Formats: sequence, structure tokens, C-alpha cells
Amino acid sequence: MDLSLSNKVYIVTGGAKGIGAAISKIIAAEKGIVVIAGRNKNDNQAMVDEIIKSGGKASCITAELGDPAACREVIEFTVEKYGQIDGLINNAGNNDGIGLEKGSPEKFFQSLQKNLSHYYNLAHYALPYLKKTKGNIVNIGSKVAVTGQGNTSGYAASKGAINALTREWAVELLPYSIRVNTVLPAEVWTPLYENWIKTLPNPKEKLAQIVSKIPFENRMTTSEEIANMTVFLLSERSSHTTGQIIFVDGGYSHLDRSL
Ligand code: NAP
Repeated sequence: MDLSLSNKVYIVTGGAKGIGAAISKIIAAEKGIVVIAGRNKNDNQAMVDEIIKSGGKASCITAELGDPAACREVIEFTVEKYGQIDGLINNAGNNDGIGLEKGSPEKFFQSLQKNLSHYYNLAHYALPYLKKTKGNIVNIGSKVAVTGQGNTSGYAASKGAINALTREWAVELLPYSIRVNTVLPAEVWTPLYENWIKTLPNPKEKLAQIVSKIPFENRMTTSEEIANMTVFLLSERSSHTTGQIIFVDGGYSHLDRSL
């Protein structure tokens, strides 16, 4: 299936690691141009080098996305370099463990800034360019928005808002033929996941327990499986899909708990 991404320009936040890295690589393999925006310069450059070595096109910009000015710079950088934006993939996020008991009002607000504000800010600054290309937006959400997790109020609030904004933006952007969708992962082995599981008392046992409860094949979702859905949604092959929250989670969030 030709996804027709050739020479189209896609911004992937957090595109150097984990799920974002898989999205960057698949876009590049489909001949799209990737702009990676993330806070670690070396990680970003290493991913760009890997893509270019495999014959793809990519560049990167260092940005702490919790800063609105950095979000504006990401858009300006992309437009100056390539003249257009065809898609925004809002992926960067961090399950930062700001809970009711362990957090504070200041930490809660900071968590919203680092996990949520850039989804809005990038969409806001990218909008004039997305209007020109009839581009689209794919957000990466989390099952935490619908199941809760405990001790992560900032992250849960951000992911809940992302689900709501998916519907809200899909409606607002109908006049411009801009589609907005969210891919919602549950359990994906990435650097973020590894760091999170290590914070639990018995990480190995806990991991085995989680995996045993993933209905489809009792295994974790791969980053590539999240990326495949994301790239399909970006493509014209999904031309009448908008406002959807698509769970790519092996049935973890919805299927019968007694399985
Ligand atoms: P990851 O391995 O930590 O990769 C995320 C990347 O984004 C990292 O490069 C990270 O930089 C960067 N980043 C995060 N917040 C940023 C910010 N405010 N500004 C700039 N860069 C930032 O995470 P992942 O597991 O691939 O997660 C990607 C997305 O999937 C997130 O939105 C997450 O909520 C969602 N998700 C993941 C899972 C899972 O099981 N892995 C489940 C549900 C949802 P640093 O390395 O410096 O932190």
C-alpha cells in the first residue's frame, strides 16, 4: 500500500526515542521528511543520522517543549527549512509521577506544562501551515486517561485533556479539511516504560504480572505497532477518519478482565 507521504513534512515531538523514534523511522521509510523536536540534542542528532544513513530525509531541533517559545521555534524552523508542514505528531510525554500525596500545586502545573501545553502550542503555531496543505494531526495519548494509574495526576490530567482536545480540534478544523486523531497505547517497552517500572518495588514480578494480563498474545505492544497506526492515520489512506481515539493495546483497556 502506497501511503503517499513522499516529500511531505512531518514534525515528530520526542521523535528520537521509544515510540517517537519508531514513528520517525516509518515516516522516513515511507519517503516523508521528518523533523524531530526534542530536548536532548545528541539523541535527536543520532536519530537523524540513522535515518539519513538508511536513505531517508530528516532534521532536528532541540526544544524543551514545555516552553511556548520553543514550540514557536519548532514551527519556524520547519517552515524556514522546508516551506510547508503536512503533519504534526504530538508524541513527547513523560509519566512523571506527580500524585495527590507526593505532588504539590506547583509540580502539578509543571507536569501539565511538560505533558500537555505543547500539544496545544504546536497545533496553534502549525495551524496556518496545516491549513495550506490540508495536513493533519495525530496525538499520542495513554490508557492512563481512561483507566487511571495512581500517583500520576499531572500525566493523567494531560492525557485526559488530549482525548478531549482530539474531539474538540476535529470539530474546529472541519472547515479546513484537517483531520485530528489520537493513538492510545497501554504497555509499550520504551526508555520511558523501563524508567517507570524501575520505580516499583519488584519490577520484574510486576512486569510479568502486567504482561500476563495483556489479552492479545500476552505480550507488550511494540513501538512499531503504535507507529504503524500513527503513520496510517497521517496518510491519505485514512482520508475520512477524524476525531477518533484508537486504542493500539492488544485489548488491554477494554477486553474482559477475567481473560
Ligand atoms: P520515551 O521513551 O521517554 O521517549 C519520549 C521522548 O520525548 C524522549 O526523547 C523525551 O526526552 C522526549 N520528551 C518528553 N517530554 C519532552 C518535553 N517536554 N520536551 C522535549 N522533549 C520531551 O517515551 P515513550 O514511551 O516513547 O512515550 C511516547 C509517548 O507515548 C508519550 O506521550 C507517552 O505518554 C505515550 N505512552 C507511552 C506508553 C508506554 O508504554 N511506553 C504508554 C502509554 C502512553 P527525554 O529522553 O529527555 O525524557
